[in-house]
Amino acid sequence: MNPLIPTIRRKDPSDRLTDPSRPENGEIPPGVIYLCQVNENVSCGACCGLYNIPDLSKDRLLQLLQERTAAFRTVPREIEAIIAFGEKILADLGEKPFPEFHHCPFVGLIGADLSRPGCLLHPLGIGNRGVDFRGLSEYGGMACRSFFCPTYRNLDAEEKRILTELFALDWYAYGLLITDHGLVTASFEAVREHLGRPFRAEMVKCGSAAAEALRKFLLLKFHWPFQRTDGANPVNYFFEDGLYDRKPLFSDSSSSPGPWKYERILFELESAFPAADSLCRAQEMITAHLEEIEAALKKRCIL
Ligand code: SF4
Ligand code: SF4
Repeated sequence: MNPLIPTIRRKDPSDRLTDPSRPENGEIPPGVIYLCQVNENVSCGACCGLYNIPDLSKDRLLQLLQERTAAFRTVPREIEAIIAFGEKILADLGEKPFPEFHHCPFVGLIGADLSRPGCLLHPLGIGNRGVDFRGLSEYGGMACRSFFCPTYRNLDAEEKRILTELFALDWYAYGLLITDHGLVTASFEAVREHLGRPFRAEMVKCGSAAAEALRKFLLLKFHWPFQRTDGANPVNYFFEDGLYDRKPLFSDSSSSPGPWKYERILFELESAFPAADSLCRAQEMITAHLEEIEAALKKRCIL
């Protein structure tokens, strides 16, 4: 966690490792819904720098975490050995997309089946025998235990509930989306505006066509054809310190037609438009997704 960043703080909970769904000491997190752990298969570790690796892809990240978790099992639980392990991991990592943001070498895989990301230094981690080694991480155990990212206050309860349900099987997409609160907010705003009414979690029950249409819409983040080619990255630097600002949609502000439809969502998708005609195609694509959501809801007689 970056201690320089304004955060929402709570007393302890920590935990990236224990109960899916709520912090271990039972405290209610900001915004009520606990986002760090969702279920046995889904958790987030974005503030640990989980995604801040070169050549990020789901397969590469999974392989890296598997190898790291296996390697850590052989490390004696002694301060020098743990620190040396972390240094070796970072030395081998390569250049991070956000160089001034850390990647914690102790984020690995946890759970009975090693099915979700989590902290290898947690007292309940395999081999730790109840000892909390998180103080050996870059920002120290207190930051690990007390940090809540801006998503906790920037998304409303309905949006959080929908995301935890839609991505209940996919930790990779979940962590990248839940921390991209600007994109999520813009996407839900676009849906609400298109439908002309409030949008609630029960309208997109898991497994329904409407849920799938909404999921596809949110997944545009991962295959948006209009994404800039100069350094766009699925990793969202969500700390509010202005260190890595997003670039404008038009490199030449005089060619911008703005304000225009879906401006915010296009910005959050890290679009770049060399000319106004590509902007039209991008808007059409978003409209098509919104219409698909609307049609699925109408079919269920929800609208
Ligand atoms: S980035 Fe936010 S949701 Fe993810 S683990 Fe950190 S505090 Fe939890
Ligand atoms: S020590 Fe654990 S909780 Fe702290 S940053 Fe590293 S992986 Fe995250």
